[in-house]
Amino acid sequence: MGVDLRELPLRAGVFGAEPWSDAMRRHIEEVAGIKAYDIYGLTEIIGPGVGCECCNQNGLHVFEDHFYPEIINPETGEPLPDGSEGELVITTLTKEAMPIVRYRTRDITSIQTEACPCGRTVRRIRRIGRRSDDMLIVRGVNMFPSQIESALLAVEGTVPHYRIILTREKGLDQVEVQVEVTPEVFSDRVRSLEEVQGKIAHAIERTVGLRIKVRLVEPHSIERSEGKAKRVIDKRNQES
Ligand SMILES: [Zn+2]
Repeated sequence: MGVDLRELPLRAGVFGAEPWSDAMRRHIEEVAGIKAYDIYGLTEIIGPGVGCECCNQNGLHVFEDHFYPEIINPETGEPLPDGSEGELVITTLTKEAMPIVRYRTRDITSIQTEACPCGRTVRRIRRIGRRSDDMLIVRGVNMFPSQIESALLAVEGTVPHYRIILTREKGLDQVEVQVEVTPEVFSDRVRSLEEVQGKIAHAIERTVGLRIKVRLVEPHSIERSEGKAKRVIDKRNQES
């Protein structure tokens, strides 16, 4: 809409609903001239508000007087000690009409117990980078959409709008990452497009360990969603 966010008197924004990387945080903070805070919650529990970052942006304080967090091994269901990574499980302590007991969130995190400089004594959870069910297994390699996002944000000339398309040809998984580039890069000569494409493929290979196909697409050609973004299109069951 042509509004320069930096000209607005906004100082802070609270963002949630899906995992977003630290690279995405730096991007938002730079573009909007604000501090970007992470909030966590689930519709089944309360919606946003199970936990939120404080001014230190170092883990999300869980409101433990209302929600009891546990970390379990997602495969065995066994509870894990504070500090270990696993699936977050939540029990509501004060909800009356619809109490929830040991609800499995599928979100992967760990509980941090070190004192926070802000003075709050409730425990924190590490920012959620992935869910146990959004892992993609491609040619035997585990891959998370959030890794693709971090790789993209490290390359200049791209914007964090992307789509991962999985197909299967002759029994072999094929991945294509479609990435929007900035209008400046797109209007530039073919050579610089190829250069950006190569840089992205390289950045993804470094992060994920797989060489995958990258296709640059025109600015604003990837559909914007108002809720959770649909970044992965898996067509592997429709082998042609
Ligand atoms: Zn704090």
